[in-house]
Amino acid sequence: MGSREVIDLEGVRVTVAGLGVSGIPAAKVLHARGAHVTVVNDGDDARAREQAAELEALGVTVRLGDGATLPEGTELVVTAPGWKPDKPLFTAARAAGVEIWGDVELAWRLRGPDAAPWLAITGTNGKTTTTQMLASILKAAGLRTAAVGNIGVSVLDAVLGDEQYDVLAVELSSYQLHWAPSLRAHSAAVLNLAPDHLDWHGSMEAYAADKGRVYEGNRVACVYNVADKATEDLVRAADVEEGCRAIGFTLGTPGPSQLGVVEGILVDRAFVEDRHKNAQELAEVSDVTPPAPHNIANALAAAALARAFGVPARAVRDGLRNFTPDAHRIAHVADVDSVAYVDDSKATNTHAAEASLAAYESIVWIAGGLAKGATFDELVAKSAKRLRGVVLIGQDRALIREALARHAPEVPVVDLDRTDTGAMLAAVREARALAVAGDTVLLAPACASMDMFANYNKRGEAFAEAVREIGS
Ligand code: ADP
Repeated sequence: MGSREVIDLEGVRVTVAGLGVSGIPAAKVLHARGAHVTVVNDGDDARAREQAAELEALGVTVRLGDGATLPEGTELVVTAPGWKPDKPLFTAARAAGVEIWGDVELAWRLRGPDAAPWLAITGTNGKTTTTQMLASILKAAGLRTAAVGNIGVSVLDAVLGDEQYDVLAVELSSYQLHWAPSLRAHSAAVLNLAPDHLDWHGSMEAYAADKGRVYEGNRVACVYNVADKATEDLVRAADVEEGCRAIGFTLGTPGPSQLGVVEGILVDRAFVEDRHKNAQELAEVSDVTPPAPHNIANALAAAALARAFGVPARAVRDGLRNFTPDAHRIAHVADVDSVAYVDDSKATNTHAAEASLAAYESIVWIAGGLAKGATFDELVAKSAKRLRGVVLIGQDRALIREALARHAPEVPVVDLDRTDTGAMLAAVREARALAVAGDTVLLAPACASMDMFANYNKRGEAFAEAVREIGS
Protein backbone atom coordinates (compact mmCIF):
# COMPACT_ATOMS: atom_id res chain seq x y z
CA MET A 1 0.00 0.00 0.00
CA GLY A 2 1.36 3.45 -0.80
CA SER A 3 1.68 6.24 1.72
CA ARG A 4 -1.36 8.26 2.54
CA GLU A 5 -1.95 11.55 4.23
CA VAL A 6 -3.23 11.11 7.76
CA ILE A 7 -6.54 12.91 8.07
CA ASP A 8 -6.33 16.35 9.71
CA LEU A 9 -8.80 16.90 12.55
CA GLU A 10 -7.24 20.09 13.91
CA GLY A 11 -10.02 22.49 14.91
CA VAL A 12 -12.83 20.24 13.61
CA ARG A 13 -15.95 20.26 15.79
CA VAL A 14 -16.69 16.61 16.52
CA THR A 15 -19.60 15.17 18.45
CA VAL A 16 -18.95 11.77 20.03
CA ALA A 17 -22.21 9.85 20.55
CA GLY A 18 -22.03 7.70 23.67
CA LEU A 19 -19.64 7.35 26.56
CA GLY A 20 -18.39 3.84 27.00
CA VAL A 21 -15.95 1.33 25.64
CA SER A 22 -15.60 2.97 22.25
CA GLY A 23 -16.71 6.54 23.03
CA ILE A 24 -14.13 7.37 25.68
CA PRO A 25 -11.05 6.28 23.69
CA ALA A 26 -12.51 7.96 20.59
CA ALA A 27 -13.00 11.24 22.47
CA LYS A 28 -9.43 11.09 23.80
CA VAL A 29 -7.91 10.40 20.40
CA LEU A 30 -9.93 13.12 18.69
CA HIS A 31 -9.00 15.58 21.40
CA ALA A 32 -5.33 14.67 21.09
CA ARG A 33 -5.58 15.34 17.36
CA GLY A 34 -6.74 18.90 18.03
CA ALA A 35 -10.47 18.42 17.42
CA HIS A 36 -13.05 20.32 19.52
CA VAL A 37 -14.86 17.39 21.09
CA THR A 38 -18.31 17.25 22.66
CA VAL A 39 -19.48 13.91 24.03
CA VAL A 40 -23.24 13.39 24.30
CA ASN A 41 -24.72 10.58 26.34
CA ASP A 42 -28.28 9.45 27.08
CA GLY A 43 -27.55 8.29 30.61
CA ASP A 44 -26.67 10.50 33.55
CA ASP A 45 -25.84 8.02 36.31
CA ALA A 46 -22.94 7.97 38.78
CA ARG A 47 -20.70 6.02 36.41
CA ALA A 48 -21.37 8.39 33.51
CA ARG A 49 -20.56 11.36 35.74
CA GLU A 50 -17.29 9.80 36.77
CA GLN A 51 -16.34 9.16 33.15
CA ALA A 52 -17.46 12.67 32.19
CA ALA A 53 -15.28 14.21 34.90
CA GLU A 54 -12.26 12.36 33.57
CA LEU A 55 -12.84 13.65 30.04
CA GLU A 56 -13.66 17.18 31.18
CA ALA A 57 -10.34 17.30 33.02
CA LEU A 58 -8.69 16.84 29.62
CA GLY A 59 -10.72 19.67 28.09
CA VAL A 60 -13.48 17.66 26.43
CA THR A 61 -17.06 18.95 26.72
CA VAL A 62 -19.54 16.35 27.98
CA ARG A 63 -23.33 16.62 27.84
CA LEU A 64 -25.06 14.02 29.99
CA GLY A 65 -28.73 13.08 29.85
CA ASP A 66 -29.29 14.22 26.27
CA GLY A 67 -28.07 12.03 23.48
CA ALA A 68 -30.81 13.15 21.11
CA THR A 69 -29.86 16.69 20.09
CA LEU A 70 -27.00 17.48 17.76
CA PRO A 71 -24.76 20.16 19.27
CA GLU A 72 -24.64 23.42 17.31
CA GLY A 73 -21.88 23.62 14.73
CA THR A 74 -21.08 19.87 14.65
CA GLU A 75 -18.94 19.02 11.62
CA LEU A 76 -18.49 15.30 12.26
CA VAL A 77 -20.26 12.68 14.41
CA VAL A 78 -18.35 9.71 15.80
CA THR A 79 -20.78 7.18 17.26
CA ALA A 80 -20.65 4.14 19.49
CA PRO A 81 -21.48 1.20 17.19
CA GLY A 82 -24.58 0.17 19.13
CA TRP A 83 -26.48 3.44 18.65
CA LYS A 84 -29.49 2.84 16.40
CA PRO A 85 -29.40 4.60 13.04
CA ASP A 86 -32.90 6.08 13.49
CA LYS A 87 -31.89 8.21 16.50
CA PRO A 88 -32.85 11.89 16.18
CA LEU A 89 -29.18 12.88 16.56
CA PHE A 90 -28.37 11.05 13.34
CA THR A 91 -31.43 12.35 11.51
CA ALA A 92 -30.26 15.88 12.37
CA ALA A 93 -26.69 15.09 11.29
CA ARG A 94 -27.82 13.65 7.96
CA ALA A 95 -30.08 16.66 7.35
CA ALA A 96 -27.11 18.96 7.98
CA GLY A 97 -24.86 16.93 5.65
CA VAL A 98 -22.62 15.88 8.55
CA GLU A 99 -20.77 12.57 8.19
CA ILE A 100 -21.30 9.84 10.80
CA TRP A 101 -18.42 7.49 11.60
CA GLY A 102 -18.30 4.53 13.95
CA ASP A 103 -15.24 3.47 15.94
CA VAL A 104 -14.01 1.29 13.08
CA GLU A 105 -14.35 4.10 10.54
CA LEU A 106 -12.43 6.39 12.87
CA ALA A 107 -9.64 3.82 13.21
CA TRP A 108 -9.60 3.28 9.46
CA ARG A 109 -9.30 7.00 8.75
CA LEU A 110 -6.66 7.61 11.40
CA ARG A 111 -4.38 4.69 10.63
CA GLY A 112 -0.94 5.85 9.64
CA PRO A 113 0.72 5.79 6.26
CA ASP A 114 1.79 2.28 5.27
CA ALA A 115 -0.45 0.83 7.98
CA ALA A 116 -0.98 -2.93 8.20
CA PRO A 117 -3.68 -4.29 5.88
CA TRP A 118 -6.84 -5.75 7.40
CA LEU A 119 -8.24 -9.24 6.97
CA ALA A 120 -11.85 -8.78 8.07
CA ILE A 121 -14.37 -11.29 9.41
CA THR A 122 -18.07 -10.93 9.98
CA GLY A 123 -21.12 -13.22 10.12
CA THR A 124 -23.91 -14.07 12.52
CA ASN A 125 -21.93 -16.73 14.39
CA GLY A 126 -18.31 -17.82 14.64
CA LYS A 127 -16.68 -14.38 14.26
CA THR A 128 -14.56 -14.46 17.40
CA THR A 129 -13.43 -18.04 16.92
CA THR A 130 -12.52 -17.51 13.28
CA THR A 131 -10.70 -14.25 13.94
CA GLN A 132 -8.61 -15.92 16.65
CA MET A 133 -7.88 -18.88 14.39
CA LEU A 134 -6.76 -16.49 11.69
CA ALA A 135 -4.46 -14.61 14.06
CA SER A 136 -3.00 -17.92 15.22
CA ILE A 137 -2.29 -18.95 11.61
CA LEU A 138 -0.72 -15.59 10.77
CA LYS A 139 1.47 -15.85 13.86
CA ALA A 140 2.54 -19.36 12.89
CA ALA A 141 3.67 -17.81 9.59
CA GLY A 142 5.93 -15.47 11.53
CA LEU A 143 3.82 -12.39 10.88
CA ARG A 144 3.32 -9.65 13.45
CA THR A 145 -0.41 -9.63 14.00
CA ALA A 146 -3.27 -9.44 16.50
CA ALA A 147 -6.92 -10.42 16.70
CA VAL A 148 -8.75 -7.11 17.09
CA GLY A 149 -12.19 -5.55 16.85
CA ASN A 150 -15.01 -7.00 18.87
CA ILE A 151 -12.42 -8.98 20.83
CA GLY A 152 -9.66 -7.94 23.21
CA VAL A 153 -7.84 -5.05 21.62
CA SER A 154 -10.05 -2.38 20.04
CA VAL A 155 -9.35 -1.50 16.44
CA LEU A 156 -8.49 2.04 17.48
CA ASP A 157 -5.84 0.83 19.93
CA ALA A 158 -4.37 -1.55 17.37
CA VAL A 159 -4.14 1.15 14.75
CA LEU A 160 -2.82 3.93 16.96
CA GLY A 161 -0.72 2.00 19.46
CA ASP A 162 3.06 1.66 19.36
CA GLU A 163 3.02 -1.97 18.31
CA GLN A 164 3.95 -2.52 14.65
CA TYR A 165 1.87 -5.05 12.73
CA ASP A 166 2.28 -6.73 9.35
CA VAL A 167 -1.42 -7.55 9.12
CA LEU A 168 -4.48 -7.41 11.39
CA ALA A 169 -7.20 -10.05 11.89
CA VAL A 170 -10.28 -7.89 12.44
CA GLU A 171 -13.63 -9.07 13.80
CA LEU A 172 -16.45 -6.73 12.77
CA SER A 173 -20.06 -6.70 13.95
CA SER A 174 -22.93 -5.66 11.71
CA TYR A 175 -23.23 -2.43 13.73
CA GLN A 176 -19.59 -1.57 13.21
CA LEU A 177 -19.90 -2.23 9.49
CA HIS A 178 -22.99 -0.07 9.28
CA TRP A 179 -20.95 2.87 10.49
CA ALA A 180 -17.79 2.16 8.46
CA PRO A 181 -18.52 3.43 4.94
CA SER A 182 -14.96 3.83 3.68
CA LEU A 183 -13.40 0.66 5.11
CA ARG A 184 -11.51 -1.29 2.42
CA ALA A 185 -10.09 -4.60 3.59
CA HIS A 186 -7.34 -6.58 1.88
CA SER A 187 -9.71 -9.58 1.98
CA ALA A 188 -12.84 -10.41 3.98
CA ALA A 189 -15.16 -13.25 4.94
CA VAL A 190 -18.87 -13.41 5.77
CA LEU A 191 -19.20 -16.71 7.63
CA ASN A 192 -22.99 -17.09 7.59
CA LEU A 193 -26.17 -15.07 7.72
CA ALA A 194 -29.14 -15.77 9.98
CA PRO A 195 -31.67 -13.30 11.36
CA ASP A 196 -30.17 -11.44 14.32
CA HIS A 197 -30.37 -7.88 15.65
CA LEU A 198 -33.25 -7.18 13.27
CA ASP A 199 -34.78 -4.62 15.61
CA TRP A 200 -31.60 -2.55 15.19
CA HIS A 201 -31.17 -2.88 11.44
CA GLY A 202 -34.87 -2.66 10.63
CA SER A 203 -35.04 -5.70 8.29
CA MET A 204 -33.14 -8.82 7.19
CA GLU A 205 -32.22 -7.00 3.97
CA ALA A 206 -30.70 -4.09 5.86
CA TYR A 207 -28.82 -6.48 8.19
CA ALA A 208 -27.43 -8.43 5.22
CA ALA A 209 -26.48 -5.23 3.42
CA ASP A 210 -24.50 -4.04 6.44
CA LYS A 211 -22.70 -7.37 6.69
CA GLY A 212 -22.01 -7.19 2.93
CA ARG A 213 -20.15 -3.92 3.36
CA VAL A 214 -17.19 -5.94 4.55
CA TYR A 215 -16.57 -6.99 0.93
CA GLU A 216 -16.57 -3.44 -0.47
CA GLY A 217 -13.28 -2.56 -2.05
CA ASN A 218 -11.58 -5.89 -1.21
CA ARG A 219 -8.34 -6.25 -3.11
CA VAL A 220 -7.50 -9.95 -3.10
CA ALA A 221 -10.34 -12.21 -1.94
CA CYS A 222 -14.00 -12.18 -0.90
CA VAL A 223 -14.48 -15.38 1.10
CA TYR A 224 -18.02 -16.80 1.25
CA ASN A 225 -19.78 -19.88 2.64
CA VAL A 226 -20.82 -22.26 -0.16
CA ALA A 227 -23.58 -23.68 2.09
CA ASP A 228 -25.05 -20.23 2.72
CA LYS A 229 -26.07 -18.71 -0.58
CA ALA A 230 -26.83 -15.34 1.00
CA THR A 231 -23.12 -14.84 1.64
CA GLU A 232 -22.31 -15.52 -2.03
CA ASP A 233 -25.01 -13.07 -3.09
CA LEU A 234 -23.29 -10.41 -0.99
CA VAL A 235 -20.02 -11.04 -2.83
CA ARG A 236 -21.81 -10.57 -6.14
CA ALA A 237 -23.36 -7.31 -4.98
CA ALA A 238 -20.05 -5.88 -3.77
CA ASP A 239 -17.93 -3.40 -5.67
CA VAL A 240 -14.41 -4.80 -5.39
CA GLU A 241 -10.99 -3.99 -6.82
CA GLU A 242 -10.10 -5.32 -10.25
CA GLY A 243 -8.78 -8.88 -9.93
CA CYS A 244 -10.27 -9.60 -6.50
CA ARG A 245 -11.47 -13.21 -6.39
CA ALA A 246 -14.55 -14.89 -4.90
CA ILE A 247 -13.37 -17.82 -2.78
CA GLY A 248 -15.83 -20.35 -1.34
CA PHE A 249 -15.40 -22.60 1.67
CA THR A 250 -17.31 -25.86 1.99
CA LEU A 251 -17.45 -28.92 4.24
CA GLY A 252 -17.68 -30.98 1.05
CA THR A 253 -15.18 -31.58 -1.75
CA PRO A 254 -13.96 -28.20 -2.97
CA GLY A 255 -14.36 -27.07 -6.56
CA PRO A 256 -11.86 -24.73 -8.22
CA SER A 257 -11.46 -21.48 -6.24
CA GLN A 258 -12.72 -23.18 -3.09
CA LEU A 259 -11.36 -24.61 0.14
CA GLY A 260 -13.02 -27.75 1.47
CA VAL A 261 -12.63 -31.16 3.05
CA VAL A 262 -11.55 -34.41 1.36
CA GLU A 263 -11.37 -37.55 3.49
CA GLY A 264 -10.60 -35.78 6.72
CA ILE A 265 -8.13 -33.34 5.16
CA LEU A 266 -8.63 -29.57 4.80
CA VAL A 267 -7.77 -28.82 1.19
CA ASP A 268 -7.11 -25.63 -0.77
CA ARG A 269 -8.13 -25.49 -4.44
CA ALA A 270 -7.99 -21.72 -4.64
CA PHE A 271 -4.51 -20.52 -3.85
CA VAL A 272 -2.60 -23.12 -5.84
CA GLU A 273 -1.11 -23.13 -9.27
CA ASP A 274 -3.52 -24.53 -11.84
CA ARG A 275 -6.48 -24.88 -9.51
CA HIS A 276 -8.35 -26.99 -12.07
CA LYS A 277 -5.89 -29.83 -11.60
CA ASN A 278 -4.15 -29.23 -8.29
CA ALA A 279 -5.04 -29.07 -4.62
CA GLN A 280 -2.93 -28.30 -1.59
CA GLU A 281 -3.32 -30.16 1.71
CA LEU A 282 -3.55 -27.70 4.58
CA ALA A 283 -4.33 -29.62 7.76
CA GLU A 284 -6.30 -32.53 9.14
CA VAL A 285 -9.77 -32.18 10.57
CA SER A 286 -8.30 -33.44 13.86
CA ASP A 287 -6.01 -30.38 13.95
CA VAL A 288 -9.13 -28.25 14.64
CA THR A 289 -10.49 -27.90 18.20
CA PRO A 290 -13.33 -28.71 18.65
CA PRO A 291 -13.71 -30.73 15.42
CA ALA A 292 -17.44 -29.91 15.17
CA PRO A 293 -18.69 -29.27 11.61
CA HIS A 294 -19.33 -25.56 12.10
CA ASN A 295 -15.87 -25.15 13.58
CA ILE A 296 -14.26 -26.86 10.59
CA ALA A 297 -16.10 -24.27 8.50
CA ASN A 298 -14.60 -21.53 10.69
CA ALA A 299 -11.14 -23.04 10.20
CA LEU A 300 -11.61 -23.12 6.42
CA ALA A 301 -12.67 -19.47 6.38
CA ALA A 302 -9.65 -18.49 8.47
CA ALA A 303 -7.40 -20.56 6.21
CA ALA A 304 -8.85 -18.91 3.11
CA LEU A 305 -8.06 -15.42 4.41
CA ALA A 306 -4.56 -16.48 5.47
CA ARG A 307 -3.90 -18.07 2.09
CA ALA A 308 -5.20 -14.90 0.37
CA PHE A 309 -2.47 -13.11 2.30
CA GLY A 310 0.13 -15.56 1.00
CA VAL A 311 0.59 -17.73 4.10
CA PRO A 312 2.13 -21.17 3.42
CA ALA A 313 0.14 -24.36 4.03
CA ARG A 314 2.30 -25.50 6.94
CA ALA A 315 1.51 -22.32 8.90
CA VAL A 316 -2.21 -22.99 8.45
CA ARG A 317 -1.75 -26.40 10.05
CA ASP A 318 0.48 -25.10 12.86
CA GLY A 319 -1.80 -22.14 13.54
CA LEU A 320 -4.86 -24.39 13.78
CA ARG A 321 -3.03 -26.83 16.05
CA ASN A 322 -1.95 -24.01 18.37
CA PHE A 323 -5.45 -22.61 18.64
CA THR A 324 -7.81 -23.24 21.54
CA PRO A 325 -11.23 -21.60 21.56
CA ASP A 326 -12.34 -19.14 24.23
CA ALA A 327 -14.29 -20.47 27.19
CA HIS A 328 -17.95 -21.48 26.88
CA ARG A 329 -17.71 -22.32 23.17
CA ILE A 330 -18.26 -26.07 22.95
CA ALA A 331 -15.94 -26.60 25.91
CA HIS A 332 -15.72 -30.17 27.15
CA VAL A 333 -16.18 -29.88 30.92
CA ALA A 334 -15.94 -33.51 32.09
CA ASP A 335 -17.14 -37.06 31.55
CA VAL A 336 -19.35 -38.44 34.30
CA ASP A 337 -20.45 -42.09 34.02
CA SER A 338 -19.40 -42.18 30.35
CA VAL A 339 -21.56 -39.14 29.54
CA ALA A 340 -19.78 -36.07 28.16
CA TYR A 341 -20.78 -32.66 29.54
CA VAL A 342 -20.24 -29.82 27.07
CA ASP A 343 -20.58 -26.08 27.74
CA ASP A 344 -21.67 -24.00 24.74
CA SER A 345 -23.17 -21.21 26.80
CA LYS A 346 -22.11 -18.83 24.01
CA ALA A 347 -24.82 -20.37 21.81
CA THR A 348 -27.13 -17.45 22.56
CA ASN A 349 -29.22 -17.69 19.38
CA THR A 350 -30.93 -20.52 17.50
CA HIS A 351 -28.45 -20.53 14.62
CA ALA A 352 -25.53 -21.13 17.00
CA ALA A 353 -27.43 -23.78 18.96
CA GLU A 354 -28.32 -25.58 15.74
CA ALA A 355 -24.63 -25.77 14.79
CA SER A 356 -23.68 -27.12 18.16
CA LEU A 357 -26.51 -29.70 18.27
CA ALA A 358 -25.38 -30.89 14.83
CA ALA A 359 -22.00 -31.80 16.30
CA TYR A 360 -23.28 -34.69 18.49
CA GLU A 361 -25.23 -37.88 17.81
CA SER A 362 -27.24 -38.34 20.98
CA ILE A 363 -27.87 -35.37 23.21
CA VAL A 364 -29.53 -34.34 26.42
CA TRP A 365 -30.04 -30.69 25.64
CA ILE A 366 -30.17 -27.96 28.28
CA ALA A 367 -31.84 -24.91 26.76
CA GLY A 368 -33.77 -21.76 27.53
CA GLY A 369 -33.36 -18.22 28.79
CA LEU A 370 -34.30 -14.99 27.04
CA ALA A 371 -35.54 -15.70 23.51
CA LYS A 372 -35.10 -12.14 22.15
CA GLY A 373 -38.05 -12.63 19.80
CA ALA A 374 -36.74 -15.88 18.29
CA THR A 375 -38.86 -18.86 17.23
CA PHE A 376 -37.68 -22.42 17.81
CA ASP A 377 -39.61 -24.56 15.33
CA GLU A 378 -36.85 -24.87 12.75
CA LEU A 379 -34.16 -25.56 15.33
CA VAL A 380 -36.22 -28.25 17.09
CA ALA A 381 -37.40 -29.87 13.84
CA LYS A 382 -33.82 -30.12 12.55
CA SER A 383 -32.38 -31.44 15.80
CA ALA A 384 -35.23 -33.72 16.99
CA LYS A 385 -33.61 -36.99 15.91
CA ARG A 386 -30.52 -36.30 18.01
CA LEU A 387 -32.37 -35.56 21.23
CA ARG A 388 -32.37 -38.14 24.03
CA GLY A 389 -34.09 -35.62 26.24
CA VAL A 390 -34.40 -31.93 27.04
CA VAL A 391 -34.15 -29.89 30.22
CA LEU A 392 -35.61 -26.39 29.98
CA ILE A 393 -34.62 -23.43 32.13
CA GLY A 394 -35.24 -19.71 32.08
CA GLN A 395 -37.93 -17.21 31.35
CA ASP A 396 -38.93 -18.08 27.79
CA ARG A 397 -38.71 -21.87 28.11
CA ALA A 398 -42.39 -22.29 27.17
CA LEU A 399 -41.55 -21.24 23.61
CA ILE A 400 -39.09 -24.13 23.30
CA ARG A 401 -41.45 -26.54 25.07
CA GLU A 402 -44.20 -25.73 22.57
CA ALA A 403 -41.85 -26.21 19.62
CA LEU A 404 -40.79 -29.58 21.10
CA ALA A 405 -44.44 -30.61 21.46
CA ARG A 406 -44.99 -29.80 17.78
CA HIS A 407 -41.84 -31.36 16.27
CA ALA A 408 -40.48 -33.86 18.79
CA PRO A 409 -43.47 -35.05 20.86
CA GLU A 410 -41.75 -38.32 21.79
CA VAL A 411 -38.69 -36.65 23.36
CA PRO A 412 -38.91 -36.46 27.18
CA VAL A 413 -38.84 -32.89 28.46
CA VAL A 414 -38.17 -31.66 32.00
CA ASP A 415 -39.49 -28.14 32.45
CA LEU A 416 -37.68 -26.54 35.38
CA ASP A 417 -39.84 -23.80 36.71
CA ARG A 418 -37.17 -21.98 38.67
CA THR A 419 -34.71 -19.18 38.07
CA ASP A 420 -32.84 -19.16 41.39
CA THR A 421 -29.09 -19.69 41.67
CA GLY A 422 -29.50 -23.42 42.29
CA ALA A 423 -31.47 -23.92 39.07
CA MET A 424 -28.44 -24.90 36.98
CA LEU A 425 -27.46 -27.65 39.40
CA ALA A 426 -31.04 -28.93 39.30
CA ALA A 427 -30.92 -28.83 35.48
CA VAL A 428 -27.68 -30.79 35.34
CA ARG A 429 -29.08 -33.39 37.77
CA GLU A 430 -32.17 -33.79 35.58
CA ALA A 431 -29.96 -34.09 32.50
CA ARG A 432 -27.90 -36.76 34.17
CA ALA A 433 -31.02 -38.75 34.93
CA LEU A 434 -32.05 -38.63 31.26
CA ALA A 435 -28.63 -39.47 29.78
CA VAL A 436 -27.28 -42.94 29.02
CA ALA A 437 -23.65 -43.95 28.47
CA GLY A 438 -22.24 -42.44 25.27
CA ASP A 439 -24.59 -39.43 25.28
CA THR A 440 -23.58 -35.79 25.47
CA VAL A 441 -25.22 -33.38 27.88
CA LEU A 442 -25.04 -30.12 25.97
CA LEU A 443 -25.68 -26.65 27.36
CA ALA A 444 -26.56 -24.75 24.16
CA PRO A 445 -29.34 -22.49 25.38
CA ALA A 446 -30.31 -20.79 22.07
CA CYS A 447 -31.21 -17.86 24.30
CA ALA A 448 -29.56 -14.98 26.10
CA SER A 449 -28.67 -15.52 29.75
CA MET A 450 -29.66 -12.30 31.48
CA ASP A 451 -32.88 -13.58 33.03
CA MET A 452 -30.86 -15.83 35.35
CA PHE A 453 -27.20 -14.86 35.02
CA ALA A 454 -25.09 -11.72 34.63
CA ASN A 455 -23.89 -12.99 31.23
CA TYR A 456 -23.18 -16.14 29.23
CA ASN A 457 -19.84 -16.59 31.03
CA LYS A 458 -21.57 -16.87 34.39
CA ARG A 459 -24.12 -19.28 32.93
CA GLY A 460 -21.30 -21.48 31.60
CA GLU A 461 -19.46 -21.33 34.91
CA ALA A 462 -22.59 -22.37 36.79
CA PHE A 463 -22.93 -25.33 34.43
CA ALA A 464 -19.30 -26.39 34.91
CA GLU A 465 -19.64 -26.08 38.68
CA ALA A 466 -22.78 -28.21 38.64
CA VAL A 467 -21.02 -30.86 36.55
CA ARG A 468 -18.14 -30.94 39.03
CA GLU A 469 -20.62 -31.31 41.84
CA ILE A 470 -22.44 -34.32 40.35
CA GLY A 471 -19.09 -35.88 39.39
CA SER A 472 -17.55 -35.64 42.83
P1 ADP B 1 -19.46 -14.65 17.48
O1 ADP B 1 -18.20 -13.88 17.76
O2 ADP B 1 -19.94 -14.46 16.06
O3 ADP B 1 -20.54 -14.52 18.49
P2 ADP B 1 -18.18 -17.09 18.46
O4 ADP B 1 -16.97 -17.56 17.75
O5 ADP B 1 -18.02 -16.42 19.77
O6 ADP B 1 -19.03 -16.19 17.47
O7 ADP B 1 -19.16 -18.34 18.63
C1 ADP B 1 -20.41 -18.15 19.22
C2 ADP B 1 -21.24 -19.42 19.17
O8 ADP B 1 -21.71 -19.59 17.84
C3 ADP B 1 -20.46 -20.69 19.48
O9 ADP B 1 -20.55 -21.01 20.81
C4 ADP B 1 -21.16 -21.74 18.66
O10 ADP B 1 -22.29 -22.21 19.33
C5 ADP B 1 -21.67 -20.97 17.46
N1 ADP B 1 -20.87 -21.01 16.25
C6 ADP B 1 -19.55 -20.81 16.11
N2 ADP B 1 -19.20 -20.90 14.82
C7 ADP B 1 -20.35 -21.10 14.11
C8 ADP B 1 -20.66 -21.26 12.75
N3 ADP B 1 -19.71 -21.18 11.81
N4 ADP B 1 -21.95 -21.46 12.41
C9 ADP B 1 -22.90 -21.51 13.34
N5 ADP B 1 -22.68 -21.39 14.65
C10 ADP B 1 -21.41 -21.18 15.04
